[in-house]
Amino acid sequence: MEKHVAKYVEEFMDRIRTKNPGEKEFHQAVQEVVESLAPYIVENPALMKMKVLERIAEPERVIIFRVPWLNDKGELEINRGYRIQMNSAIGPYKGGLRFHPSVNLSILKFLAFEQVFKNSLTTLPMGGGKGGSDFNPKGKSDNEVMKFCQSFMTELSKHIGADTDVPAGDIGVGGREIGFLYGQYKRLRNEFTGTLTGKGIEWGGSPMRPEATGYGTCYFAQEMLATRGESFQGKTVAVSGSGNVAQYAVRKATALGGKVVTLSDSNGYIYDPKGIDADKLEYVLELKNIFRGRIREYAEKYPEAQYFEGQRPWSVKCDIALPCATQNEISGEEARMLVDNGCICVAEGANMPSTPEAIEVFQKSRILYAPGKAANAGGVATSGLEMCQNSMRLLWSPEEVDNKLHGIMKNIHAACCKYGTEPDGYINYVKGANIAGFIKVANAMLAQGIV
Ligand code: NDP
Repeated sequence: MEKHVAKYVEEFMDRIRTKNPGEKEFHQAVQEVVESLAPYIVENPALMKMKVLERIAEPERVIIFRVPWLNDKGELEINRGYRIQMNSAIGPYKGGLRFHPSVNLSILKFLAFEQVFKNSLTTLPMGGGKGGSDFNPKGKSDNEVMKFCQSFMTELSKHIGADTDVPAGDIGVGGREIGFLYGQYKRLRNEFTGTLTGKGIEWGGSPMRPEATGYGTCYFAQEMLATRGESFQGKTVAVSGSGNVAQYAVRKATALGGKVVTLSDSNGYIYDPKGIDADKLEYVLELKNIFRGRIREYAEKYPEAQYFEGQRPWSVKCDIALPCATQNEISGEEARMLVDNGCICVAEGANMPSTPEAIEVFQKSRILYAPGKAANAGGVATSGLEMCQNSMRLLWSPEEVDNKLHGIMKNIHAACCKYGTEPDGYINYVKGANIAGFIKVANAMLAQGIV
Protein backbone atom coordinates (compact mmCIF):
# COMPACT_ATOMS: atom_id res chain seq x y z
CA MET A 1 0.00 0.00 0.00
CA GLU A 2 1.37 3.44 -0.92
CA LYS A 3 2.32 5.77 1.93
CA HIS A 4 -0.45 8.37 1.49
CA VAL A 5 -3.05 5.58 1.16
CA ALA A 6 -1.77 3.88 4.31
CA LYS A 7 -1.96 7.25 6.12
CA TYR A 8 -5.59 7.69 5.05
CA VAL A 9 -6.47 4.20 6.37
CA GLU A 10 -4.62 4.76 9.63
CA GLU A 11 -6.26 8.12 10.34
CA PHE A 12 -9.68 6.81 9.33
CA MET A 13 -9.40 3.84 11.68
CA ASP A 14 -8.07 6.00 14.51
CA ARG A 15 -11.21 8.12 14.28
CA ILE A 16 -13.45 5.04 14.11
CA ARG A 17 -11.83 3.51 17.20
CA THR A 18 -12.01 6.76 19.16
CA LYS A 19 -15.65 7.42 18.29
CA ASN A 20 -16.81 3.82 18.74
CA PRO A 21 -14.77 2.48 21.66
CA GLY A 22 -14.85 -1.26 22.31
CA GLU A 23 -16.87 -2.07 19.19
CA LYS A 24 -14.45 -4.65 17.82
CA GLU A 25 -16.70 -6.27 15.21
CA PHE A 26 -17.60 -2.84 13.85
CA HIS A 27 -13.91 -1.87 13.68
CA GLN A 28 -13.15 -5.14 11.89
CA ALA A 29 -15.84 -4.62 9.24
CA VAL A 30 -14.88 -0.98 8.63
CA GLN A 31 -11.17 -1.78 8.44
CA GLU A 32 -11.73 -4.34 5.67
CA VAL A 33 -13.77 -1.86 3.64
CA VAL A 34 -11.47 1.14 4.18
CA GLU A 35 -8.40 -0.87 3.19
CA SER A 36 -9.90 -1.85 -0.13
CA LEU A 37 -11.53 1.51 -0.90
CA ALA A 38 -8.69 3.81 0.20
CA PRO A 39 -6.66 3.65 -3.04
CA TYR A 40 -9.81 4.58 -4.98
CA ILE A 41 -10.95 7.32 -2.59
CA VAL A 42 -7.65 9.19 -2.22
CA GLU A 43 -7.54 9.64 -6.00
CA ASN A 44 -11.03 11.19 -6.02
CA PRO A 45 -11.12 14.76 -4.61
CA ALA A 46 -14.95 14.92 -4.46
CA LEU A 47 -15.14 11.78 -2.31
CA MET A 48 -12.38 13.14 -0.06
CA LYS A 49 -13.87 16.63 0.29
CA MET A 50 -17.43 15.39 0.86
CA LYS A 51 -16.18 12.76 3.36
CA VAL A 52 -18.42 10.16 1.78
CA LEU A 53 -16.92 7.07 3.45
CA GLU A 54 -16.69 8.89 6.78
CA ARG A 55 -20.42 9.55 6.55
CA ILE A 56 -21.20 5.96 5.51
CA ALA A 57 -19.41 4.76 8.66
CA GLU A 58 -21.62 6.97 10.87
CA PRO A 59 -25.16 5.57 11.27
CA GLU A 60 -27.93 7.94 10.22
CA ARG A 61 -29.83 6.89 13.32
CA VAL A 62 -29.44 4.37 16.18
CA ILE A 63 -32.52 3.39 18.15
CA ILE A 64 -32.12 1.50 21.45
CA PHE A 65 -35.14 0.51 23.49
CA ARG A 66 -36.42 -1.50 26.44
CA VAL A 67 -38.35 -4.70 25.71
CA PRO A 68 -40.27 -5.87 28.80
CA TRP A 69 -42.36 -9.07 28.64
CA LEU A 70 -43.81 -11.74 30.91
CA ASN A 71 -42.52 -15.32 30.70
CA ASP A 72 -44.70 -18.42 31.15
CA LYS A 73 -44.17 -18.31 34.92
CA GLY A 74 -45.57 -14.80 34.99
CA GLU A 75 -42.15 -13.30 35.75
CA LEU A 76 -40.99 -10.06 34.21
CA GLU A 77 -38.11 -10.28 31.72
CA ILE A 78 -36.31 -7.30 30.25
CA ASN A 79 -34.37 -7.37 27.01
CA ARG A 80 -32.75 -4.64 24.96
CA GLY A 81 -33.93 -3.89 21.43
CA TYR A 82 -32.00 -2.11 18.67
CA ARG A 83 -32.45 -0.78 15.17
CA ILE A 84 -29.48 0.71 13.31
CA GLN A 85 -30.65 2.87 10.40
CA MET A 86 -27.30 3.06 8.69
CA ASN A 87 -27.78 4.58 5.25
CA SER A 88 -30.80 5.57 3.15
CA ALA A 89 -29.04 7.13 0.16
CA ILE A 90 -30.38 4.60 -2.38
CA GLY A 91 -33.60 3.39 -0.74
CA PRO A 92 -35.41 2.65 2.52
CA TYR A 93 -33.30 1.04 5.25
CA LYS A 94 -33.32 -2.72 4.77
CA GLY A 95 -31.73 -5.49 6.79
CA GLY A 96 -32.52 -8.29 9.19
CA LEU A 97 -33.31 -8.60 12.86
CA ARG A 98 -31.10 -10.88 14.98
CA PHE A 99 -32.29 -12.40 18.26
CA HIS A 100 -29.30 -13.90 20.06
CA PRO A 101 -27.80 -13.38 23.53
CA SER A 102 -24.55 -12.12 21.96
CA VAL A 103 -26.30 -9.19 20.24
CA ASN A 104 -24.81 -5.79 21.08
CA LEU A 105 -24.26 -2.44 19.41
CA SER A 106 -20.94 -3.46 17.85
CA ILE A 107 -22.35 -6.58 16.16
CA LEU A 108 -25.39 -4.77 14.82
CA LYS A 109 -23.33 -1.83 13.56
CA PHE A 110 -20.97 -4.17 11.72
CA LEU A 111 -23.94 -5.94 10.16
CA ALA A 112 -25.65 -2.65 9.23
CA PHE A 113 -22.44 -1.29 7.72
CA GLU A 114 -21.93 -4.43 5.60
CA GLN A 115 -25.59 -4.29 4.60
CA VAL A 116 -25.14 -0.89 2.91
CA PHE A 117 -22.65 -2.33 0.42
CA LYS A 118 -24.47 -5.62 0.02
CA ASN A 119 -27.80 -3.99 -0.76
CA SER A 120 -26.16 -1.71 -3.27
CA LEU A 121 -24.59 -4.73 -4.99
CA THR A 122 -27.99 -6.34 -5.53
CA THR A 123 -28.81 -3.48 -7.96
CA LEU A 124 -32.14 -3.00 -6.13
CA PRO A 125 -33.05 0.33 -4.46
CA MET A 126 -32.43 -0.55 -0.81
CA GLY A 127 -30.52 1.32 1.87
CA GLY A 128 -28.84 -0.46 4.78
CA GLY A 129 -30.02 -1.25 8.29
CA LYS A 130 -29.93 -3.98 10.92
CA GLY A 131 -31.51 -4.61 14.27
CA GLY A 132 -32.34 -7.16 16.90
CA SER A 133 -32.17 -7.99 20.54
CA ASP A 134 -30.18 -9.91 23.14
CA PHE A 135 -33.29 -12.10 23.55
CA ASN A 136 -32.50 -15.82 23.29
CA PRO A 137 -35.33 -17.76 21.58
CA LYS A 138 -33.63 -21.07 22.47
CA GLY A 139 -35.56 -22.98 25.09
CA LYS A 140 -38.47 -20.51 25.03
CA SER A 141 -42.05 -21.64 24.39
CA ASP A 142 -43.95 -20.37 21.34
CA ASN A 143 -46.03 -18.28 23.72
CA GLU A 144 -42.93 -16.64 25.20
CA VAL A 145 -41.48 -15.95 21.76
CA MET A 146 -44.79 -14.35 20.76
CA LYS A 147 -44.94 -12.18 23.89
CA PHE A 148 -41.38 -11.01 23.32
CA CYS A 149 -42.00 -10.29 19.60
CA GLN A 150 -45.13 -8.29 20.42
CA SER A 151 -43.34 -6.15 22.97
CA PHE A 152 -40.35 -5.67 20.64
CA MET A 153 -42.62 -4.61 17.77
CA THR A 154 -44.66 -2.26 19.95
CA GLU A 155 -41.62 0.00 20.10
CA LEU A 156 -40.03 -0.83 16.72
CA SER A 157 -43.26 -0.06 14.85
CA LYS A 158 -42.73 3.65 15.56
CA HIS A 159 -39.57 3.66 13.49
CA ILE A 160 -40.26 1.42 10.47
CA GLY A 161 -42.57 1.39 7.45
CA ALA A 162 -42.76 0.13 3.87
CA ASP A 163 -41.08 3.30 2.57
CA THR A 164 -38.90 3.96 5.63
CA ASP A 165 -37.32 0.81 6.97
CA VAL A 166 -38.12 -2.82 6.12
CA PRO A 167 -36.69 -5.41 8.55
CA ALA A 168 -36.36 -9.16 7.82
CA GLY A 169 -35.00 -12.26 9.58
CA ASP A 170 -31.47 -13.19 10.61
CA ILE A 171 -30.06 -15.47 13.33
CA GLY A 172 -32.89 -16.47 15.68
CA VAL A 173 -35.54 -14.78 13.54
CA GLY A 174 -37.24 -17.16 11.12
CA GLY A 175 -40.77 -17.65 9.83
CA ARG A 176 -42.27 -18.04 13.32
CA GLU A 177 -40.82 -14.79 14.62
CA ILE A 178 -41.62 -12.81 11.46
CA GLY A 179 -45.24 -14.00 11.82
CA PHE A 180 -45.54 -12.73 15.40
CA LEU A 181 -43.76 -9.47 14.55
CA TYR A 182 -45.92 -8.82 11.50
CA GLY A 183 -49.13 -9.66 13.35
CA GLN A 184 -48.35 -7.06 15.99
CA TYR A 185 -47.24 -4.46 13.43
CA LYS A 186 -50.50 -4.88 11.50
CA ARG A 187 -52.53 -4.60 14.67
CA LEU A 188 -50.78 -1.42 15.79
CA ARG A 189 -50.77 0.33 12.43
CA ASN A 190 -54.00 -1.05 10.98
CA GLU A 191 -52.38 -1.56 7.60
CA PHE A 192 -51.29 -4.48 5.45
CA THR A 193 -48.07 -3.38 3.77
CA GLY A 194 -44.71 -4.90 2.97
CA THR A 195 -43.03 -3.55 6.10
CA LEU A 196 -41.39 -6.87 6.94
CA THR A 197 -39.96 -9.42 4.53
CA GLY A 198 -39.67 -13.16 5.01
CA LYS A 199 -43.43 -13.32 5.47
CA GLY A 200 -45.38 -16.54 4.90
CA ILE A 201 -46.41 -17.20 1.33
CA GLU A 202 -50.14 -16.93 2.18
CA TRP A 203 -49.75 -13.47 3.72
CA GLY A 204 -47.52 -11.41 1.47
CA GLY A 205 -44.33 -13.45 1.38
CA SER A 206 -42.32 -14.23 -1.74
CA PRO A 207 -41.74 -17.70 -3.11
CA MET A 208 -38.10 -18.69 -2.61
CA ARG A 209 -37.36 -16.25 0.22
CA PRO A 210 -36.52 -19.07 2.67
CA GLU A 211 -34.27 -20.66 0.05
CA ALA A 212 -32.73 -17.44 -1.27
CA THR A 213 -29.62 -16.92 0.87
CA GLY A 214 -28.44 -20.52 0.68
CA TYR A 215 -29.29 -20.92 -2.99
CA GLY A 216 -27.76 -17.55 -3.82
CA THR A 217 -24.51 -18.48 -2.06
CA CYS A 218 -24.29 -21.63 -4.19
CA TYR A 219 -25.10 -19.71 -7.39
CA PHE A 220 -22.31 -17.32 -6.51
CA ALA A 221 -19.89 -20.18 -5.75
CA GLN A 222 -20.86 -21.74 -9.08
CA GLU A 223 -19.79 -18.56 -10.88
CA MET A 224 -16.53 -18.43 -8.91
CA LEU A 225 -15.74 -22.06 -9.73
CA ALA A 226 -16.53 -21.46 -13.42
CA THR A 227 -13.73 -18.86 -13.60
CA ARG A 228 -11.37 -21.82 -13.12
CA GLY A 229 -13.27 -24.28 -15.27
CA GLU A 230 -14.64 -26.02 -12.17
CA SER A 231 -18.11 -26.80 -10.80
CA PHE A 232 -19.82 -28.42 -7.79
CA GLN A 233 -19.99 -31.72 -9.68
CA GLY A 234 -18.23 -34.44 -7.67
CA LYS A 235 -16.88 -32.00 -5.07
CA THR A 236 -16.92 -32.50 -1.30
CA VAL A 237 -18.52 -29.56 0.49
CA ALA A 238 -18.22 -28.50 4.15
CA VAL A 239 -21.10 -26.40 5.46
CA SER A 240 -21.28 -24.83 8.94
CA GLY A 241 -24.47 -23.89 10.77
CA SER A 242 -27.74 -25.76 10.44
CA GLY A 243 -30.19 -22.86 10.30
CA ASN A 244 -31.93 -21.21 7.40
CA VAL A 245 -28.87 -20.39 5.28
CA ALA A 246 -27.09 -23.69 5.89
CA GLN A 247 -30.18 -25.80 5.14
CA TYR A 248 -30.74 -24.36 1.68
CA ALA A 249 -27.03 -24.19 0.89
CA VAL A 250 -26.98 -27.96 1.44
CA ARG A 251 -29.98 -28.45 -0.83
CA LYS A 252 -28.56 -26.41 -3.71
CA ALA A 253 -24.97 -27.66 -3.37
CA THR A 254 -26.33 -31.23 -3.53
CA ALA A 255 -28.56 -30.42 -6.51
CA LEU A 256 -25.52 -29.03 -8.32
CA GLY A 257 -23.67 -32.33 -7.87
CA GLY A 258 -21.72 -31.71 -4.67
CA LYS A 259 -21.55 -33.99 -1.62
CA VAL A 260 -22.13 -32.05 1.61
CA VAL A 261 -20.46 -33.80 4.55
CA THR A 262 -20.81 -31.43 7.52
CA LEU A 263 -23.31 -29.29 9.44
CA SER A 264 -22.92 -27.60 12.82
CA ASP A 265 -24.51 -25.57 15.57
CA SER A 266 -23.07 -23.68 18.50
CA ASN A 267 -22.43 -26.96 20.36
CA GLY A 268 -20.50 -28.92 17.74
CA TYR A 269 -20.52 -30.38 14.25
CA ILE A 270 -21.48 -33.60 12.47
CA TYR A 271 -19.44 -35.30 9.77
CA ASP A 272 -21.30 -37.62 7.44
CA PRO A 273 -18.84 -39.17 4.96
CA LYS A 274 -21.71 -40.55 2.87
CA GLY A 275 -23.13 -37.08 2.36
CA ILE A 276 -26.28 -35.31 3.54
CA ASP A 277 -28.75 -36.40 0.87
CA ALA A 278 -32.32 -35.12 0.33
CA ASP A 279 -33.89 -37.46 2.93
CA LYS A 280 -31.32 -36.59 5.58
CA LEU A 281 -31.79 -32.89 4.86
CA GLU A 282 -35.55 -33.26 5.34
CA TYR A 283 -34.76 -34.71 8.75
CA VAL A 284 -32.50 -31.71 9.55
CA LEU A 285 -35.25 -29.25 8.54
CA GLU A 286 -37.71 -30.98 10.83
CA LEU A 287 -35.18 -31.29 13.66
CA LYS A 288 -34.19 -27.62 13.51
CA ASN A 289 -37.32 -25.80 12.35
CA ILE A 290 -40.04 -27.79 14.11
CA PHE A 291 -38.49 -29.62 17.06
CA ARG A 292 -35.77 -26.98 17.55
CA GLY A 293 -33.30 -29.76 18.39
CA ARG A 294 -29.51 -29.95 18.32
CA ILE A 295 -27.35 -31.13 15.42
CA ARG A 296 -25.89 -33.83 17.73
CA GLU A 297 -29.17 -35.73 17.20
CA TYR A 298 -28.28 -36.20 13.52
CA ALA A 299 -25.47 -38.58 14.50
CA GLU A 300 -27.88 -40.49 16.78
CA LYS A 301 -30.29 -40.94 13.86
CA TYR A 302 -27.64 -41.74 11.20
CA PRO A 303 -24.91 -43.99 12.69
CA GLU A 304 -22.63 -43.47 9.68
CA ALA A 305 -22.17 -39.88 10.90
CA GLN A 306 -19.91 -38.74 13.75
CA TYR A 307 -20.53 -35.87 16.14
CA PHE A 308 -17.71 -33.65 17.42
CA GLU A 309 -18.68 -31.71 20.52
CA GLY A 310 -17.33 -28.18 20.89
CA GLN A 311 -15.60 -28.17 17.50
CA ARG A 312 -16.06 -26.49 14.12
CA PRO A 313 -16.01 -28.39 10.83
CA TRP A 314 -12.93 -26.82 9.20
CA SER A 315 -10.53 -29.69 9.82
CA VAL A 316 -12.60 -31.91 7.52
CA LYS A 317 -11.14 -32.46 4.07
CA CYS A 318 -13.24 -30.64 1.48
CA ASP A 319 -13.02 -28.92 -1.90
CA ILE A 320 -15.55 -26.19 -1.14
CA ALA A 321 -16.35 -24.52 2.20
CA LEU A 322 -19.61 -22.67 2.81
CA PRO A 323 -19.55 -21.06 6.28
CA CYS A 324 -23.22 -20.40 7.10
CA ALA A 325 -23.34 -19.94 10.90
CA THR A 326 -21.97 -16.69 12.33
CA GLN A 327 -19.20 -14.07 12.39
CA ASN A 328 -15.56 -14.98 13.05
CA GLU A 329 -16.15 -18.73 12.82
CA ILE A 330 -13.01 -19.43 10.72
CA SER A 331 -9.72 -18.53 12.40
CA GLY A 332 -6.41 -18.10 10.58
CA GLU A 333 -5.37 -21.56 11.73
CA GLU A 334 -8.60 -23.14 10.50
CA ALA A 335 -8.20 -21.36 7.15
CA ARG A 336 -4.72 -22.87 6.90
CA MET A 337 -6.18 -26.33 7.54
CA LEU A 338 -8.79 -25.81 4.83
CA VAL A 339 -6.18 -24.75 2.27
CA ASP A 340 -3.73 -27.52 3.27
CA ASN A 341 -6.53 -30.06 2.88
CA GLY A 342 -7.13 -28.95 -0.70
CA CYS A 343 -10.06 -26.53 -0.38
CA ILE A 344 -10.26 -24.42 -3.56
CA CYS A 345 -13.30 -22.25 -2.88
CA VAL A 346 -14.78 -20.47 0.15
CA ALA A 347 -18.11 -18.65 -0.32
CA GLU A 348 -19.57 -17.01 2.77
CA GLY A 349 -23.25 -17.67 3.46
CA ALA A 350 -22.86 -16.05 6.89
CA ASN A 351 -21.82 -12.45 7.51
CA MET A 352 -18.08 -12.00 8.22
CA PRO A 353 -17.48 -15.66 9.18
CA SER A 354 -13.79 -15.41 8.26
CA THR A 355 -11.45 -13.53 10.57
CA PRO A 356 -9.01 -11.06 8.93
CA GLU A 357 -6.26 -13.68 9.45
CA ALA A 358 -8.35 -16.29 7.61
CA ILE A 359 -9.00 -13.94 4.70
CA GLU A 360 -5.28 -13.29 4.43
CA VAL A 361 -4.58 -17.04 4.27
CA PHE A 362 -7.20 -17.56 1.52
CA GLN A 363 -6.02 -14.63 -0.55
CA LYS A 364 -2.30 -15.38 -0.17
CA SER A 365 -3.00 -18.99 -1.19
CA ARG A 366 -4.82 -17.61 -4.24
CA ILE A 367 -7.86 -19.80 -3.67
CA LEU A 368 -11.34 -18.55 -4.60
CA TYR A 369 -12.68 -16.54 -1.66
CA ALA A 370 -15.88 -14.43 -1.60
CA PRO A 371 -17.05 -12.30 1.33
CA GLY A 372 -20.62 -12.52 2.63
CA LYS A 373 -21.60 -9.12 1.32
CA ALA A 374 -21.32 -10.54 -2.20
CA ALA A 375 -21.94 -14.28 -1.76
CA ASN A 376 -24.96 -14.09 0.58
CA ALA A 377 -26.64 -11.07 -1.03
CA GLY A 378 -29.30 -13.36 -2.54
CA GLY A 379 -31.26 -13.23 0.71
CA VAL A 380 -31.73 -9.50 0.79
CA ALA A 381 -32.13 -9.40 -2.99
CA THR A 382 -35.11 -11.73 -2.70
CA SER A 383 -36.42 -9.60 0.17
CA GLY A 384 -36.22 -6.74 -2.33
CA LEU A 385 -38.26 -8.85 -4.75
CA GLU A 386 -40.78 -9.48 -1.95
CA MET A 387 -41.09 -5.70 -1.43
CA CYS A 388 -41.59 -5.30 -5.14
CA GLN A 389 -44.40 -7.90 -5.23
CA ASN A 390 -46.03 -6.32 -2.16
CA SER A 391 -46.02 -2.89 -3.81
CA MET A 392 -47.57 -4.32 -6.95
CA ARG A 393 -50.00 -6.56 -5.01
CA LEU A 394 -48.75 -9.49 -7.06
CA LEU A 395 -47.30 -12.94 -6.43
CA TRP A 396 -44.67 -14.25 -8.80
CA SER A 397 -44.07 -17.97 -9.38
CA PRO A 398 -41.14 -19.72 -7.67
CA GLU A 399 -39.46 -20.14 -11.08
CA GLU A 400 -39.72 -16.44 -11.80
CA VAL A 401 -38.19 -15.47 -8.46
CA ASP A 402 -35.48 -18.12 -8.73
CA ASN A 403 -34.55 -16.90 -12.22
CA LYS A 404 -34.33 -13.33 -10.98
CA LEU A 405 -32.24 -14.43 -7.99
CA HIS A 406 -29.90 -16.40 -10.24
CA GLY A 407 -29.54 -13.40 -12.56
CA ILE A 408 -28.78 -11.07 -9.64
CA MET A 409 -26.08 -13.40 -8.29
CA LYS A 410 -24.47 -13.59 -11.73
CA ASN A 411 -24.52 -9.79 -11.96
CA ILE A 412 -22.96 -9.40 -8.52
CA HIS A 413 -20.25 -11.84 -9.55
CA ALA A 414 -19.61 -9.89 -12.75
CA ALA A 415 -19.37 -6.62 -10.76
CA CYS A 416 -16.84 -8.21 -8.39
CA CYS A 417 -14.75 -9.36 -11.37
CA LYS A 418 -14.93 -5.90 -12.96
CA TYR A 419 -13.63 -4.07 -9.91
CA GLY A 420 -11.64 -6.81 -8.21
CA THR A 421 -9.48 -8.43 -10.89
CA GLU A 422 -5.79 -7.94 -10.03
CA PRO A 423 -3.08 -7.40 -12.67
CA ASP A 424 -2.10 -11.09 -12.38
CA GLY A 425 -5.70 -12.16 -13.10
CA TYR A 426 -6.55 -13.15 -9.50
CA ILE A 427 -10.06 -12.02 -8.60
CA ASN A 428 -10.02 -10.19 -5.27
CA TYR A 429 -13.72 -10.51 -4.42
CA VAL A 430 -13.33 -8.42 -1.26
CA LYS A 431 -12.01 -5.46 -3.20
CA GLY A 432 -14.47 -6.00 -6.07
CA ALA A 433 -17.51 -6.17 -3.78
CA ASN A 434 -16.45 -3.17 -1.72
CA ILE A 435 -15.76 -0.92 -4.70
CA ALA A 436 -18.82 -2.00 -6.71
CA GLY A 437 -21.09 -1.60 -3.68
CA PHE A 438 -19.57 1.74 -2.74
CA ILE A 439 -19.78 3.54 -6.09
CA LYS A 440 -23.58 3.62 -6.30
CA VAL A 441 -24.05 4.75 -2.70
CA ALA A 442 -21.28 7.34 -3.03
CA ASN A 443 -22.77 8.82 -6.20
CA ALA A 444 -26.18 9.06 -4.53
CA MET A 445 -24.67 10.77 -1.50
CA LEU A 446 -22.75 13.23 -3.65
CA ALA A 447 -25.96 14.08 -5.52
CA GLN A 448 -27.96 14.55 -2.32
CA GLY A 449 -25.65 17.08 -0.68
CA ILE A 450 -24.50 17.24 2.92
CA VAL A 451 -27.10 15.12 4.72
P1 NDP B 1 -30.38 -19.26 11.92
O1 NDP B 1 -30.72 -18.72 13.25
O2 NDP B 1 -31.43 -19.89 11.09
O3 NDP B 1 -29.17 -20.29 12.06
C1 NDP B 1 -27.96 -19.93 12.63
C2 NDP B 1 -27.07 -21.14 12.71
O4 NDP B 1 -25.76 -20.74 13.11
C3 NDP B 1 -27.54 -22.15 13.75
O5 NDP B 1 -27.15 -23.42 13.37
C4 NDP B 1 -26.78 -21.68 14.99
O6 NDP B 1 -26.59 -22.69 15.96
C5 NDP B 1 -25.45 -21.28 14.38
N1 NDP B 1 -24.84 -20.27 15.24
C6 NDP B 1 -25.37 -19.08 15.61
N2 NDP B 1 -24.55 -18.43 16.42
C7 NDP B 1 -23.48 -19.22 16.57
C8 NDP B 1 -22.27 -19.10 17.30
N3 NDP B 1 -22.00 -18.02 18.03
N4 NDP B 1 -21.37 -20.12 17.19
C9 NDP B 1 -21.64 -21.22 16.43
N5 NDP B 1 -22.77 -21.39 15.74
C10 NDP B 1 -23.67 -20.40 15.80
O7 NDP B 1 -29.69 -18.03 11.14
P2 NDP B 1 -29.44 -17.86 9.58
O8 NDP B 1 -29.19 -19.17 8.95
O9 NDP B 1 -30.51 -16.98 9.06
O10 NDP B 1 -28.12 -16.98 9.58
C11 NDP B 1 -26.80 -17.56 9.52
C12 NDP B 1 -25.81 -16.52 9.04
O11 NDP B 1 -26.18 -16.05 7.74
C13 NDP B 1 -25.68 -15.26 9.89
O12 NDP B 1 -24.35 -14.80 9.84
C14 NDP B 1 -26.59 -14.27 9.18
O13 NDP B 1 -26.24 -12.92 9.47
C15 NDP B 1 -26.28 -14.64 7.73
N6 NDP B 1 -27.27 -14.22 6.76
C16 NDP B 1 -28.58 -14.65 6.86
C17 NDP B 1 -29.50 -14.27 5.90
C18 NDP B 1 -30.89 -14.79 5.89
O14 NDP B 1 -31.59 -14.56 4.89
N7 NDP B 1 -31.35 -15.50 6.88
C19 NDP B 1 -29.12 -13.34 4.80
C20 NDP B 1 -27.71 -13.05 4.74
C21 NDP B 1 -26.85 -13.46 5.70
P3 NDP B 1 -27.44 -22.67 17.32
O15 NDP B 1 -28.77 -23.22 16.95
O16 NDP B 1 -26.68 -23.52 18.25
O17 NDP B 1 -27.50 -21.24 17.77
